[in-house]
Amino acid sequence: MSRFWSPLVHTLSPYVPGEQPKIADLVKLNTNESPYGPSPKAVEAIAAAAGEALRLYPDPTSGALRETLAAYHGVSVEQVFVGNGSDEVLAHAFRALLGHAAPLLFPDITYSFYPTYCRLFDVAYETVPLSGDLSVRIEDYRRAAGAIIIANPNAPTGVALTRAQIAQLLAEHPDKPVVIDEAYVDFGGESAIPLVADHPNLLVVQTMSKSRALAGLRVGYAIGDAALIEGLTRVKDSFNSYPLGRPAQAGAIASVEDEAFFQDSRARVIAGRRRLVEGLEARGFSAPASSANFVFARHASRPGAELAAELRTRGVIVRRFDAPRIGDHLRITVGTDGQIDRLLGALDEILG
Ligand SMILES: *Cc1c(COP(=O)(O)O)cnc(C)c1O
Repeated sequence: MSRFWSPLVHTLSPYVPGEQPKIADLVKLNTNESPYGPSPKAVEAIAAAAGEALRLYPDPTSGALRETLAAYHGVSVEQVFVGNGSDEVLAHAFRALLGHAAPLLFPDITYSFYPTYCRLFDVAYETVPLSGDLSVRIEDYRRAAGAIIIANPNAPTGVALTRAQIAQLLAEHPDKPVVIDEAYVDFGGESAIPLVADHPNLLVVQTMSKSRALAGLRVGYAIGDAALIEGLTRVKDSFNSYPLGRPAQAGAIASVEDEAFFQDSRARVIAGRRRLVEGLEARGFSAPASSANFVFARHASRPGAELAAELRTRGVIVRRFDAPRIGDHLRITVGTDGQIDRLLGALDEILG
């Protein structure tokens, strides 16, 4: 606290990211990072970009990266926006699209950055409860609203809506901006990008942090109607002209171009998820079907806080949210087979 702060700063409640402890030999399953690392071609491109040219500012429009993403997703370059991680893309979307007189709607259990941005950007919002099985029910969004944002697959539940359900949501709300945050879509969800062509109110946000194992590079992007992208660009150019450095632009392009590596590593994560779910179910946990690179599991009898603490003493870190309805759930990132074995072994000790 300081008397030198602007008044707004006193009202903020910042997002708290999962911890990044510096403990050796830790099984880190708390922040949904990829266990398999980025494409070696991306790493090479980043190294090649980290040279003498760093004295020059990067392309402020990230034109080559946006061209690459446009070709990959079958849209035009005017329909692509890139930012310093999808968190920044989302921040610009809150500013550019989601603040209206009527409240922004999002699920009561979802990415906790959304209410944080609402406070930072003074966006009025209301939360819509997930159903008892932790799924989003689009009929619950039939109410007064200025805009809607939904993470699909949702976090921290991993539960996905189908593309047909998103299409239905868009059909019911043709006059409101709808943002779909697809941070985890590559692990089994259906992207809404094909719906962009027919829906000028739809913005789809994706990230290279999870399925492309580039969380440390900070690259996210959005795809939507050119007029929505223009709104985001106006906000971006009023904030930071150069959100992506040269290494980030180069590495992201190389990652998108290495389709074989991408397909292989996401298939491995999906296979690991199956193993993780089976192992958890055999130990008394249940979890809603996950389309993400994590599982949101609750034990039949043991409290989540106790399990998380016991795992921690055994060098296994998972994420738990101290919130109504989900306090006994553990969000466990899909690790390598070796990490899954360490988690399950630790649970065997704890559960006896
Ligand atoms: C991880 C995550 C993001 C942000 O990822 P970046 O690393 O900022 O690209 C956005 N939305 C959800 C739901 C996430 O879980």
